[in-house]
Parts: sequence; C-alpha cells; structure tokens
Amino acid sequence: MKFVHYIKIKVLVCMSALMTMILFNGCNYFAKPLELSSEHFLFVATTQTSSIAEMQEGIDLAEEFYSTLANIIPREYELDSVIVVQLNGKYRGPGTYAYMDNQGTIQLWRYPEELGGYWSLFAHELVHAIAFDTSVKVGVYEWQSFGFYNEAWAEYLSLLIDPEKTGFPFYGFQENVVVGHWIMHGGIAIAKLRTSHEELNLSCPHQSYTMRASWFRFVDETYGRNVTLEIMYGGKEMTPVVVEKILGESLIIVDNKWQKWVLKHYASHPGADAQAASYRASISYYQPCQ
Ligand SMILES: [Zn+2]
Repeated sequence: MKFVHYIKIKVLVCMSALMTMILFNGCNYFAKPLELSSEHFLFVATTQTSSIAEMQEGIDLAEEFYSTLANIIPREYELDSVIVVQLNGKYRGPGTYAYMDNQGTIQLWRYPEELGGYWSLFAHELVHAIAFDTSVKVGVYEWQSFGFYNEAWAEYLSLLIDPEKTGFPFYGFQENVVVGHWIMHGGIAIAKLRTSHEELNLSCPHQSYTMRASWFRFVDETYGRNVTLEIMYGGKEMTPVVVEKILGESLIIVDNKWQKWVLKHYASHPGADAQAASYRASISYYQPCQ
C-alpha cells in the first residue's frame, strides 16, 4: 500500500509541476516553430504566435514593400539579401513595441486588427532593416546626428509605401491635420527634436514621429528626391553643416518654411479642427511634451 501511495504522490507532484509549467509558459510550451521564406525574407514564428496562412500574407506584403523601396533607395546602396522577420505574438504594452534589433531582425507584435495587426508598423521597420548590412558598413549607427534623420525617413517612407496604414503614429488621421495641430499646440520644436533626439524620441512619440515624417515630406517635395537621398545615403554624417550644404539653405530657414507649409495645408483642410480634436481624443492618455 505504501508503495502505491508513493507512486500516487509522485504522479500528483509531476502533474502539478506540469500545470505550473503550462501556467508560466502558456501554450508556448507546446508551440512548434514555423518558418516561411521568400526571395528576400525569412519569417519566423511559432504555432502559438502565428500561422502559415498569416505568415504568407505578411511575406507577400513584405515583397511588395521591398520592391517599392528598392526603386527609391539608390542602387549603389546595397540592400540586404535576406531580411529576418520574427512574429512574437500579441502586443502587450511597453516592451512589445515593434523594432529592429541589433542584428537587423525585425521584431513584430500583433496589434488590434483595426490598427493593422502584425503589419501595423512593419513598413517603418522595413525601411530601417532593408539595407542594414550596408548601413553598418558605412558606420551610420556611430553618427550622433543619425537618429533624427533615420526615424524621419523611416516614417515618411512608410507612409509612401503603406499609405493606408492605420496604426501609430497617425492612426489613419490626415498627416497635415495631426502635424499642424502639434505645431499650433506649441511645445517641442522640430529643431529640438533634431538636437535632442535620444532624449525626446520615445518620451514624446506622438509629436516626434509625426513631425519628423512631415518635415521629410516637405524636404522631399520642395527640394527634390535627389536632395533627400543625398541626406540619407550620401555617406556623410548629417551634421548641420553637411545638411545645410545639401539643402542650400540654413536649417532655421528650412524649418520655418516647413512650419508655414504645414499650417497652410491645415488651414485649407475641411474640418481640420474637429479631426484634430478626435485625433487627440484617440490618444487621450498622452501627455504632450512642452
Ligand atoms: Zn524607427
């Protein structure tokens, strides 16, 4: 009898250990790895975080974005041959934001469907990752001034290649309405975002990501694509002297012109004030930076 008792206890202990493991790891414990590749991408996930059908949808979109970007980025700036995209499961707040890691892998989490699900921020991260190896070789990540231009360019290009996107930072609201409203709101100026990038980038995201993208659109549409490409892929650190030489004007003048350009668009946009108010209501948790 004693032996039977012992076996029963052993089984109970094993079962509770298994239950604990399942509780702590969720169903991840039973998840199987999934991989799907295409000409330029390797998508990795598990049966818990995605499915082959969803990965196929992502990889089709990825190839579409890739070919649009390949036509924008100068040919001599070599693109990565394989870009790894990891699908990590449901977005769970801080710590699960989409980003490109230090190996050039795109890490994605699934946002609510109305924000674009897994592909909500994919276009932006792809702009960062598409020429990661060349960027490392050029040494851009060592440049102090790189952050502002890198993020401005990534968001602006993501709007060009994925104009229907509904996630952060515009949430489907009209660009000039959002940015015009931030300019009128006051607080941090574009020049401050440029000089204090590390400090302000993630602490003021609704202002920094929208204003920078708009600034690059203005430069692209006013000074020409060659100018924007020279800033981003010219191989020189984007110090004020270098950028002003490429633009042919001082940054103070360019920033002022950009501001006027945005406000003019805002003023001529029907219902801009009401749309700006609903944009702010949709991010009511956000405390604007001053
Ligand atoms: Zn970015």
